[in-house]
Amino acid sequence: MANLVDKSDGSEESIVGNEAEKRPISTVLIIIAMQTEALPVVNKFQLREDPHPAFPKGVPWVRYYGTYKDLQLNLVWPGKDLSLASSDSLPPPPRARVDSVGTVSASLVTYASIQALKPDLIINAGTAGGFKAKEASVGDVFLATDVAFHDRRIPIPVFDLYGVGLRQAFSTPNLLKELNLKLGKLSTGDSLDMSPKDEASITANDATLKDMEGAAVAYVADLFKVPTIFVKAVTDIVDGEKPTAEEFLQNLAAVTAALDQTVEQVVDFISGKRLSEL
Ligand code: SAH
Repeated sequence: MANLVDKSDGSEESIVGNEAEKRPISTVLIIIAMQTEALPVVNKFQLREDPHPAFPKGVPWVRYYGTYKDLQLNLVWPGKDLSLASSDSLPPPPRARVDSVGTVSASLVTYASIQALKPDLIINAGTAGGFKAKEASVGDVFLATDVAFHDRRIPIPVFDLYGVGLRQAFSTPNLLKELNLKLGKLSTGDSLDMSPKDEASITANDATLKDMEGAAVAYVADLFKVPTIFVKAVTDIVDGEKPTAEEFLQNLAAVTAALDQTVEQVVDFISGKRLSEL
């Protein structure tokens, strides 16, 4: 992601070269799609739920916040889908409420959170499918180098590139060295399964990881030039034998433990540093 901000006089200046660079990182926004992934992080940092978040009335989005070392931490989770929330509207037995996963909710909460919180850095953390052909295994935690979409096919020159929506993650060579994380490209789409067309796009994106939010978070963060990193833990092997949904649910709890441990290490590393020191 280009680290540029627009100034009121119309010129651009580099965040890294100027404003945010003069001081250590202060406000961090962690965006997590699922409650199961979010709660261990909330507990680890002893974050509190904001009873009156600066979001529009009626949305299910949840903000947790707290201070950790010298950082103002915010964790935003898009909450449970409201139209499936009431058991009245559902056939018996009442179905479990579902997390608002996917790109639409991810874009909206990223937008609203940037407006409300003006973060110095965004961390999009979550689970992902991994490709064993690209050396991903269940439980691995990756930093994504770049993110793109695999289900926005627009076969018209230049619109095709818009659809793919490739964006770079903020480069963090020191963080990578310190935590010894795996590196790979992340491909995002709105389905948990993978159609043959999606598969072809994922291959074209050269992706190691497949999720449902990353490229959407990146798109919005890039609009506002907020540096963003992607921490993704592998719950299922997409090019393996097991059905994805089954494997995902089987591994979710164990893998979120690895995820929250890594998020803690990342936050520890960030604390006291400037963006350019990551
Ligand atoms: N069956 C799940 C649905 C969650 S959707 C449930 O019962 O709640 C999957 C979530 O995990 C999304 O937020 C997505 O980003 C991530 N994910 C994990 N594995 C994935 C995969 N193989 N493909 C796409 N997204 C995946």
